[in-house]
Amino acid sequence: MDSETRTIAGLTIRIDRLVCVGFEDCIDPESTLFVLDSDGIATFHADADSAGTERILEACRACPVDAFEVSDASGKRVVP
Ligand code: SF4
Repeated sequence: MDSETRTIAGLTIRIDRLVCVGFEDCIDPESTLFVLDSDGIATFHADADSAGTERILEACRACPVDAFEVSDASGKRVVP
């Protein structure tokens, strides 16, 4: 799959899996938002739906290659 999209805490998050290079800046060991899959590419954690807004924005903004697009409930882009 080239991309994955999910809406969590009112934010729609799209992971562009062709852009991700597995740097792991978006992954906090204490967080259950993203994980790397067996190919070393970011995907949603099984418990990602429990993530809060602050953690989502922090994680997505940390990606050095802008693999995330995040929009709020009004459709306004908040990341990048
Ligand atoms: S920070 Fe970006 S490049 Fe690194 S694993 Fe996360 S999505 Fe991929």
